[in-house]
Amino acid sequence: MNTQTPEQIQNKPFFYKPFFIAPQHTIFAERAIRFDELAAADQSSWRDYLALLAEVSRAQDVALNAILPTSALPEKSGETRLPKSDGTHIPPLFINSLQTLLAALNGKVNPVIQAALNDLAARSDDDLLEMAKRVLRDEVSENEQVFRIWLHAALQCAWTAWASQLSDDDVPSVDERSVCPCCGGDAVASVVLSGGDWEGLRYLHCGVCNSRWNALRAKCTFCNDQSAIAFQQVDGVEEGVLHGAYGESCGKCGAYRKLFLLANQQYADPIADDLASLAVDILLSSEGLQRGGRNPFLLAE
Ligand SMILES: [Zn+2]
Ligand SMILES: [Zn+2]
Repeated sequence: MNTQTPEQIQNKPFFYKPFFIAPQHTIFAERAIRFDELAAADQSSWRDYLALLAEVSRAQDVALNAILPTSALPEKSGETRLPKSDGTHIPPLFINSLQTLLAALNGKVNPVIQAALNDLAARSDDDLLEMAKRVLRDEVSENEQVFRIWLHAALQCAWTAWASQLSDDDVPSVDERSVCPCCGGDAVASVVLSGGDWEGLRYLHCGVCNSRWNALRAKCTFCNDQSAIAFQQVDGVEEGVLHGAYGESCGKCGAYRKLFLLANQQYADPIADDLASLAVDILLSSEGLQRGGRNPFLLAE
């Protein structure tokens, strides 16, 4: 996977900075470790949710690796390299992914959640496919909210299995940087890489297929304006998740997205660290800024 011929590698400039970085097969296993760390460091009742998401990530790791061998990459047919994750298309391996995920979570969650998982496991495939479309369209009804996380988690596995098979030659650079060039999904947050030739490069991270794509740090990722970008952090924090977590806001359009400096928190994960740094959201929303970047596991948006 992600293999390139010697000619392709030789043709790259020496300090080559890829536009696109594919997710590794270990992405969910690494995210589970990060959620565990963040849960252990959290002193509030929120830690229970972070610990639950560590279990979800572990189950996603099982599901991803179960479907990878048979996850055939579709031909490009629309604007994005992969079918758009906008509710018009559900990957063929979604049902398989969901079943594996539910089996992996069985017995590892509290009775209330277990009841929801059992309910989901008893649904017909047609029912599940229609619900999955509503999840991606953000049209989930009140009584289906309890299923949203699990359905989205399985959708992430199916799209990530595809994205992990792409190389940066498959995903050419595009002007529009606020949505994923692979699946059109929203960028949850950015990471600024640390170390070696990639020091300081900023990549946005997709909340559906876990692809990363490069975007200039000096530019607003919502409106492309460069005149009023500001970075804010919770004052007086010199360690832990908040040490690496910034809000990147734009005075022009009034929106912000999280940005995580790997130089400060080496193992920061855009999905996990976003959920453990809500203090940054409280700070920025108190200044009237609007959050952008949809985290699939953040329910109160
Ligand atoms: Zn994507
Ligand atoms: Zn802007």
